[in-house]
Parts: sequence; C-alpha cells; structure tokens
Amino acid sequence: MTDLKLFNSLTRQIEPFVPVREGEASVYTCGPTVYNFQHIGNMRAYVFADTLGRVLSYKGYELKHVINITDVGHLTSDADAGDDKMEKAAAAQGKTAWDIAKFYQADFENDLARLNIRKPQHPRATDYVDAMIDWAKSIEATHCYELDSGLYFDTATVPDYGRLARVATDEGVSRIDPVPDKRQPQDFAIWRKTPDGETRQMEWDSPWGMGAPGWHLECSVMSQALLGFPFDIHTGGIDHREIHHTCEIAQNQAYGTDAEVPTGAKYWMHNNFLIDRRGKMSKSSGEFLRLQTLVDRGFHPLAYRLMCLQAHYRSEMEFTWEGLAAAFVRLKRMVMGVTTLKARHAELVSASIVPNEAPVEADKWTLKQVQGDVDPKFAGLIETFDSAIYNDLNSAVALTLLEMAFDLKDATPEQELNIFAEIDSVLGLNLLQLTRQDLRIRPITATITEEEIETALHLRKEARAAKDFARSDAIRDDLIARGVEVMDGDPLAWDWKLDI
Ligand code: AMP
Ligand code: ZN
Repeated sequence: MTDLKLFNSLTRQIEPFVPVREGEASVYTCGPTVYNFQHIGNMRAYVFADTLGRVLSYKGYELKHVINITDVGHLTSDADAGDDKMEKAAAAQGKTAWDIAKFYQADFENDLARLNIRKPQHPRATDYVDAMIDWAKSIEATHCYELDSGLYFDTATVPDYGRLARVATDEGVSRIDPVPDKRQPQDFAIWRKTPDGETRQMEWDSPWGMGAPGWHLECSVMSQALLGFPFDIHTGGIDHREIHHTCEIAQNQAYGTDAEVPTGAKYWMHNNFLIDRRGKMSKSSGEFLRLQTLVDRGFHPLAYRLMCLQAHYRSEMEFTWEGLAAAFVRLKRMVMGVTTLKARHAELVSASIVPNEAPVEADKWTLKQVQGDVDPKFAGLIETFDSAIYNDLNSAVALTLLEMAFDLKDATPEQELNIFAEIDSVLGLNLLQLTRQDLRIRPITATITEEEIETALHLRKEARAAKDFARSDAIRDDLIARGVEVMDGDPLAWDWKLDI
C-alpha cells in the first residue's frame, strides 16, 4: 500500500499525510469573493482542491470539505487598503450587495458542477458574523488594539509571524499598505469600522461600533466552526500564502488550537497560477477568461479540467487556446475509447442474454454499474497509478496511466471499464458518463443549427445514393464553410471545427 505524501507549504517539504483524526480527512478551501465572475485561473484552484478531495476519498478517508463563499469584507487589496469589493460592485451595477453575492455565488456553483467538482459545503461568510465577533472578542485583550479605523491584530503577540510566507517581517512590509498608527506595518484589521458619517450596505453592530469583519478573520472562524481545530488541510492559490493565510495562522495561534498544531491546519497547500502570455490571470489585468468563454468557443468544460490535470498543481500553467484544443482532443479520444468498450461489453452481454430479457444499452451504462472490483491481475497498473497520484498528486503521470489502460492486451471490456471507473473516480473526467455527443459543443458564432446539419447530411446521403456527387460535394463544402467537420465512416458523423 502506497502512502499518501503531500507538499506542505509550512515546511516547504513533501510530507506523509497523517490525519488529525483517524479515518477522516478535513479540508478547507478559500472560496471566491462573489463580486464578479470567476476566471479560469480561479477555477484552477478549485480543480486542484477537488482532485485533492477525491484522492483523500480514494485513499479511504471520510472527507469533510468546505469551500467558503466570501460575500463580505474583502478589500480590493488583500491587505488593509482599497474599497470593499462587494460594495464597490454593488455601486457599479446599481444592485444591492446581497443580490450581487447571490448572483455570483450561483454562477460559481454552476462552474463547479460543469467542472465535475464534487459538491462540498458552501457556507457564506455573512452567516458567520456573530461567530467572528465572538472570536475577535476572545482575543481582543491579548492580541489586538483599537484604532479609529478598526480593531487591529498585533502581529508581535504571536511567535513566528510570517513563517508560512517565509518573509522576514521587514520584507513583508512593502506588501502591506500603511494604516496610520499601526504598531507594526504588517498588523491587520480584524474588524473594520464604518467611517463616521458613512453607511454601508453590509454592516453589523459590534463592541467596536458598526462595521464589517476583516477578510482574514472569516476563514479562521469558518474553518474552526465547520471543521474544528486542529483540522487537516487548508488550501488556496499561492497568492494566499503571503498575506491571507499568514494572517489566518496568526489569528489561529492567538485563538489557541492544539500544542502540536498551533497553526490550526496541519498542512497548508497552494496551487500555482494560471498564466497567459501577459502574466498571472487576474480580474484586473490580462484577458478575463471565464469557463463560459471557453464553452462559447465550442470547448467542453471538462477539457479545461483535463488541461489542469496535465500540469502539476505546484507549477505555473500557461493557458493557450492551442493547449486547450489539444486537451479537448485528448478528452475526446478517451471518451471514444470508453464508448467503444461500452459497446463491446453490451454486445457480449446481449449475446449471452436469454431471449426476452432486455439487452443492456451501452448509453445507459453508469459508473455504478461497472464499479466492480478491478481484477487482481491488473493490480500492478493500479499500484503504479496510486504511486503517481499519492506522490503529491502527480496527475500528469496518472493521466498517462489511464491511457495505458486502453492498450491492455488480455482484458475484457468489463475489466477495462472497471479500471477506468476506479481511476476516473480520482481524476473526475466523467469518462463513463460522457458521450461523444456531449462533447459536441456548439460555438456561439455558429451560423447553422444541429437540425440543419442533420438535414443537410441526410440530403447528402440521398445525393450520394443517387450518384449525384456534385451535389453531395457541394453540401459537404457548405457544411465545412460553416464550421462543421464532416466525418464519413464515423458513427458520430459530424463535429464542430474548433476556432482557435
Ligand atoms: P478570489 O476570488 O480572488 O479570492 O480567488 C479565488 C481563488 O483563486 C484563490 O484561491 C486564489 O488564490 C486563486 N487564484 C486567483 N488567481 C489565480 C490564477 N491566476 N491562477 C490560479 N489560481 C488563482
Ligand atoms: Zn480564506
């Protein structure tokens, strides 16, 4: 049995995973600030967290996974500067901050589903404000001080501040915008008071006056409330290592967790950035690509998931349309392979079926139906897969092992399907459910409908039968000109040509 090893940003080392509670694994993932659509860089963070969750389930742990929804308190800078993102978006769109949050949360959850990200809990920060006030009260006397602008955390009161970020305290200074009278430049607000004479849409009464919680406080409080201290793994994008998670750790230390795990979570894991040629994809710079943008151009969302899995989560991943197209072709090939196996299996089953018994329809094949055990004679392949995925989630190698399973010489279709079911429970590409038709995504620029294509192909067939090849070629050329690939001899018959 291979042990699971994960890279812990706290120690900057790959460590064996030993859960806090035997048989269980608890994961907290910093969720989106719901003031805007998520871009595909953000979604990389959730594909990573989901893959981690799937690996933990596959390893046999009972998984508790939380992705919080930040609907309050995140300023335009990760430190204490700028406007509140939610209030700013509300003002710009002429809506309430609550409506903004609801809209973008729904859009985010839709993207999660399209990427086959299993449904973790999605608690909203605004439901935990009382708990945040209680937490702040509990550390106020020992670790905080009050200024006109809010209640601040005194980072000098905890040992090793900045240990996660690995910044000497002074280096961190330039990253934190100065607030007059802070004791240390890296001190941060845990409660921000509404300035005199202003009203905010989202504000609460507190011992420090009307105001809103600081963003860092939210994740400390929600992870503690939902998973309990200490818990196993805290995840987020690598940008969170420097400020957000560093501040969370300071708060957790102040709150008191466990002598062995003073940081609250035992392992802190971070995915690297999705970049494009201009650098890190972000909401404020570079091209803002949403998952929907990819779908609009005719890509299936799971091609993006596959693209993420092709890179190691700790490496930067460059987005290009060509790269996405290659991942899409790879996904199509995998689905085609599974489809063939399902059909071959259905044939074998129906050949052995007693008359009057309904034959198995290949398309009705579900993951559950094939999730029998992998035949012991293929244990070697599964072990190699395990050692890749348990080695700090080496999904790139895991994918090639999946493809090797198509070439097994002495396997029945059912045995192969069982292997795919097993491997895909970790990779989450939905290989056993997807059909080739599902992958045929109509680009928004298309000028022809699916029905029109089917009709044209039918007419072409008639023309060919009547040996009217000029007409048959003309129909074909017209389809090609309209972005349709005609695939003679393939049961799928046609596909959309990718526009890259
Ligand atoms: P936000 O909604 O800005 O709080 O970001 C949500 C998640 O996406 C966080 O975990 C970020 O660290 C992560 N993230 C932001 N930009 C990128 C990017 N370009 N690539 C990968 N992850 C990102
Ligand atoms: Zn967070």
